[in-house]
Amino acid sequence: MSDQIMNPVTLENLATLLPITAFFLLILLQGVAPRRDLFKNGIERIYHNLFLFVVNTLIMRLLVPLTLVAVAIWAGERGFGLFNVLDVSPWVAGLLAVIALDFAIYWQHVATHKIPLLWRMHRVHHADHDMDVTTAIRFHPLELFLSLLYKSLFVALLGASVTAVIVFELMLFIGPAFNHSNLKLPRRLDQVLRMVIATPDVHRAHHSIHRDEQDTNYGFFLIWWDRMFKTYTDEPRDGHSTMEIGLEGEQGDCKRVDQMLLSPFK
Ligand SMILES: [Zn+2]
Ligand SMILES: [Zn+2]
Repeated sequence: MSDQIMNPVTLENLATLLPITAFFLLILLQGVAPRRDLFKNGIERIYHNLFLFVVNTLIMRLLVPLTLVAVAIWAGERGFGLFNVLDVSPWVAGLLAVIALDFAIYWQHVATHKIPLLWRMHRVHHADHDMDVTTAIRFHPLELFLSLLYKSLFVALLGASVTAVIVFELMLFIGPAFNHSNLKLPRRLDQVLRMVIATPDVHRAHHSIHRDEQDTNYGFFLIWWDRMFKTYTDEPRDGHSTMEIGLEGEQGDCKRVDQMLLSPFK
């Protein structure tokens, strides 16, 4: 995964086109093969999730002068970080960096559940009272900012290449868009996929109203870490089509964008 392997222009185009295409394709697919009846709980939540995404994009683009690609370039120019020092093939370094970053995200997600101050922000994601592609972009801007700082630290320490960072960011957008979708996968395909990645049925258990199930299936892309650290739940106990999603008794005050933005400060 060296930066010489892929033309940066192609990579840049891919980095923009792939997530947008995947997002709309998954919206289409979840409409064609739905797992749950999303209309039962109203679809206003979808508009609010999309609105929050617009607000977040504006905040991150206009107010935060930091990107993971810039950190990777900075580390590369200074020979800083593990893979800028080790003499390994760029493909191996890239692959290991992407896996290590996914591992770091697993622990970030665990921390957002275990540390009350971080949960105040992360609960905005869980307060969605159903789950579809748009839940994947429902995060409080402060959580996104802290996550950016956390990921920057790991990109620098690992000395991840620009290509590895772009691949990781694509995984971190497309993976959650897929596993938050209301897409009903054939049982066999789900069983094969969940040996490697978090499928929609896997991540749905994480959005259960039951706190013991919420504290499992933390993986945003790879599911290995949940299996390794015994935080894996195979099936939600109330069943996928009938289970309640969200937070017990707390959803009413976290529906509109203004409520979502103010939620951590209450
Ligand atoms: Zn969570
Ligand atoms: Zn989620």
